[in-house]
Amino acid sequence: MAITILDEIVLTEQAAILIAGTTCLVLPALMAVYKATRETYPGFGLWVFGFISCGIGSLLLGANQFLPLWLSYWLGNVLIVLFPALLAVGFNVFIEQESHWRPYSLSVLLYALIQAVFLWFDVAVGIRAILFTLFVLTYVSLFTWGVYYRLPKLTGTRDYLTLSVTGISILIPVTRFVNTLGESLYRDPALFRQVDVLFIMLLVLASVAMAFALITMNQQRLELDLRKVSNALSQKSEALAALNDKLRMASLTDFLTGLSNRRRFDQEYRRIWDLSLKNGSPLSLLLIDVDCFKLYNDSMGHLAGDECLQRIAGLLATLPSFKNALVARIGGEEFVVVLEKPLDDAIAQAEQLVSMVQHLAIPHPSSSAAQTVTISVGVATRGTKDSNASKLLSRADHALYHAKTAGRNRAKVA
Ligand code: GH3
Ligand code: MG
Ligand code: MG
Repeated sequence: MAITILDEIVLTEQAAILIAGTTCLVLPALMAVYKATRETYPGFGLWVFGFISCGIGSLLLGANQFLPLWLSYWLGNVLIVLFPALLAVGFNVFIEQESHWRPYSLSVLLYALIQAVFLWFDVAVGIRAILFTLFVLTYVSLFTWGVYYRLPKLTGTRDYLTLSVTGISILIPVTRFVNTLGESLYRDPALFRQVDVLFIMLLVLASVAMAFALITMNQQRLELDLRKVSNALSQKSEALAALNDKLRMASLTDFLTGLSNRRRFDQEYRRIWDLSLKNGSPLSLLLIDVDCFKLYNDSMGHLAGDECLQRIAGLLATLPSFKNALVARIGGEEFVVVLEKPLDDAIAQAEQLVSMVQHLAIPHPSSSAAQTVTISVGVATRGTKDSNASKLLSRADHALYHAKTAGRNRAKVA
């Protein structure tokens, strides 16, 4: 009794094939949903067609009682064989955009032809199964080979899910092949049918796993490409930020002397002014102008003039007492030093500077002030009358004017 019930609930071969076909048609629907919601690479569409082909093929085989022989056995098997072929062709496209479709389509046509001849001459089902398995196995092997050797080159990882699924896919046609050959081993035909159904259900499982693996492959590649793009983007933005810094520095630096330029001076002077006011610390300006520089250029040449400016700038930049001071070139041969020091210190610095430039001993035969290049310095320290930064600067300018009119090569206080 129990055995009878079991017999009744066991799937028939037909029903198993129908389940396989339906599953193969549900899978492309799922893949289509994935395709609609995510980016997919070329080749994915061919895989979807592969599943549709397998689904229709299985349904034709499953409905063999109601269909003509050629439609169910011939077209059904051809469509199923087409499935792994489309997997392999789709994989070629997925990997390198080249399908190599010619050998695949020719071989599927060859299968269709041989299958037709075998059916026509009513060749034994075992021989037909061998033919079927050989073709399926070839395509599955090519697909698996591609996944094993070529996919890691693309994604950088060997995906074990994909590997195990393709492994299963190879194993099942092989086992089915052995099973068909060994039909005579089963004494009980009912038992053979049950084993056959089991293999068909394993194929169903493998196709579900295969669809999952194909989606995973696409997903992995997508994530890798996204990572590559975001890496490239962050590298670019780092380079851009570095370039921006360089440009900003260049826009604030005097190209000839490397000192701060007028723009930087304007920004920084106001900042230092506010800060020293807040801290109640003293603030002094040394406004420096090279004496008779026009004459120097005229007699020594413009290039020598540039060199002279560079030497004076070098002196200003390396003077230890100006280490924390703002030193800028604010005009052709005009420099300024902003010192957070009281008047006495500022005068001492200015006088030291005048004598140091003289000690550079740069010959200047046409100067009215000395035989060498000299400077005049206007010194001003913030007092109660200096209501803003410009006032102090203009007082330093007045002091410079006095130094010039007093004979140059000296420092004067406002
Ligand atoms: P003073 O003693 O009254 O300051 O006389 P000066 O000749 O130094 O003053 P003036 O303002 O008449 O001339 C400044 C000269 O500086 C004129 C210009 O040719 C020169 N000059 C300005 N910028 C540069 C530069 O970048 N390189 C060179 N070589 N010369 C420059
Ligand atoms: Mg000048
Ligand atoms: Mg001058």
